[in-house]
Amino acid sequence: MEIDLLITPEWIITVDSGNQVLRHHTIAVDDSRIVGIMPTSEAEKRYIPRQIVALPQQALLPGLVNAHTHVAMSLLKGLADDLPLMDWLQHHIWPAEARWADAEFVYNGAQLAIAEMIRSGTTCFNDMYFFPEAAAQAADESGIRACIGMIIIDFPTRWGSGVEEYLQKGLALHDQLQEKPLLTTAFAPHAPYTVSDEPLHKVLHLACELDVPIHMHVHETAFEVQQAQAQTGLRPLTRLEQLGLLDKHFLAVHMTQLNDEDIALLATKGVHVIHCPESNLKLASGFCPVAKLTAAGINVALGTDGNASNNDLDMLGEMRTAALIAKAVAQDASAIPATQALRMATINGAKALGLDAKIGSLEVGKSADMIAVDLGTLESSPLYDPVSHLVYCTSREQVTHTWVAGKALMINRQLTTLDSATLIAKAHCWQQKIGETS
Ligand SMILES: [Zn+2]
Repeated sequence: MEIDLLITPEWIITVDSGNQVLRHHTIAVDDSRIVGIMPTSEAEKRYIPRQIVALPQQALLPGLVNAHTHVAMSLLKGLADDLPLMDWLQHHIWPAEARWADAEFVYNGAQLAIAEMIRSGTTCFNDMYFFPEAAAQAADESGIRACIGMIIIDFPTRWGSGVEEYLQKGLALHDQLQEKPLLTTAFAPHAPYTVSDEPLHKVLHLACELDVPIHMHVHETAFEVQQAQAQTGLRPLTRLEQLGLLDKHFLAVHMTQLNDEDIALLATKGVHVIHCPESNLKLASGFCPVAKLTAAGINVALGTDGNASNNDLDMLGEMRTAALIAKAVAQDASAIPATQALRMATINGAKALGLDAKIGSLEVGKSADMIAVDLGTLESSPLYDPVSHLVYCTSREQVTHTWVAGKALMINRQLTTLDSATLIAKAHCWQQKIGETS
């Protein structure tokens, strides 16, 4: 049978329901999908591939899903560090955004972030930012998969005058993206403290009508919860429940402040929690109780958050931090073992975005969104368990290949759809402009 591509790595880490790790197996890809996973000897007999890729040192695994980020913020990487969330936002990030965040900023920032993600094994990201049409354009041109956030915030920005205009522009973008198979949308109301009840009612109504997820920062810090309780008497999560927002289409990002009732509520409603451990650590926002959430049956996925609060978009690093911090928070070394950390970075992110029938694991019928990681290096030797190494001792430079829907976006560390030198030059231009005024 003629097909597009056969890939023979040393290991296939499937992240299927049984977490199978296969050796001496080959994966067959045709027309953007995985059409077969079988012993190499059998694949060689069965298929006539147009291309063969031998990866004798590599593990092939599903592409990583970055379930929460702000790609345009890559141009603010390292602009303001070592500050708590509100000081960082109000005195540094929001003023810089008010001055600089226009369509060109978002497009250039998105391209830079997408290149960083492709180079570190991310094949799908979930974004929240102004000028989402510029991020969508950058994603579309690069070939990466993305869920583009239709952002809602109570105050005016350079993108629009307020909620009505944001909704109108978001909906227009949603319509435009219907013909783009790799791009989906989600409503992205920024946070409980920046979006009032009326817009949230509208978001809920529209999200049901369009059948898209709602993606929101919630309970990021203790201050957020205390302030809301002082002003309204309600915890933000309780308010969102009363508004009817909490269900299996809701992605609650951060969730560092959770009591047992909150956890029971999230479990009952089927809410997805997006854990961003490095951003939470850097801004000293608090600790998400991941082991407790997982024990309650809640789907926990991983995100890097934006480059300004992390400061990288490295999902391998994020996965390691998540696995380590979960053990410290739970005071239990068996909390979030490597296999579970890998699921958080792949299939759980796909589930949160409603894309798990398509991506998140390597299985026949799914889209060929895959990465190859070199585990033959000195740093990875000896190797007793490839999943252990991926989580606990692999750096992003070991990612050698990245495919989305069967198309190679990186081959032997070389990007195929974006030009690194151009991106670095653009980043330097922005650095000069922004650096002069901050
Ligand atoms: Zn965020």
